[in-house]
Amino acid sequence: MQIIPVKTPGIVKLVFPNFIWNINTKNKELYLTFDDGPTPEITDWVLSTLDVYNAKATFFCIGNNIEKHPELFQTIILKGHTIGNHTYNHLKGWKHKTKDYLDDVIKTEELINSQIQLLNSKTQNTQLDNLEFEHWNFKIFRPPYGKFKSKQRKQLQDLGYKIVLWDVLSYDWDKAVSEDACLQNVTSTAKEGSIIVFHDSLKASRNLKHALPKVLDYFSTRGFVFKSLN
Ligand SMILES: [Zn+2]
Repeated sequence: MQIIPVKTPGIVKLVFPNFIWNINTKNKELYLTFDDGPTPEITDWVLSTLDVYNAKATFFCIGNNIEKHPELFQTIILKGHTIGNHTYNHLKGWKHKTKDYLDDVIKTEELINSQIQLLNSKTQNTQLDNLEFEHWNFKIFRPPYGKFKSKQRKQLQDLGYKIVLWDVLSYDWDKAVSEDACLQNVTSTAKEGSIIVFHDSLKASRNLKHALPKVLDYFSTRGFVFKSLN
């Protein structure tokens, strides 16, 4: 049984107005998000699949993975996608002291900033220097497992973070969910402004590789565009 619903109920959004659940729009726009990367091969595959549909997305990266795969991380940015913070160690907030949790987020923030600086110096005087990364001031955070203590949430918001949850969960990571069910989770529930969760992780790759191209195809043929959060 799925404990967290595929589609976040409206009442939950009303009870927790401090979070971004979806983008308020009547335009045919969808917001794909990919958590837990960057992961070699999987993230590369996601990036080239998004390119086919001229789709932009948001990647909530784990600091430890950024540190292990900096070039892949930079590729996400160079392709014009948005980066979000997903802690350094994929922490369960409720199991950690607020200070430790915040330190883990800040460690990731510093890593993201240093990678962007590196990228800025690399791309100076090249055809890429018009990429000024204006949205890097845009601090977005998604708590692993969608849960953290309210004190942790408040302190992150005091630091300027916007907390992004979701409107639609694909359940791509769940081995008990079939490829087609994963696809259906998205096609049957996403609508204008939905924030949709996928994972660029090994664990999710079977369902992801089945569902993502079909989701892109399904909604593109219905006139939707895919945008990054910024
Ligand atoms: Zn995660």
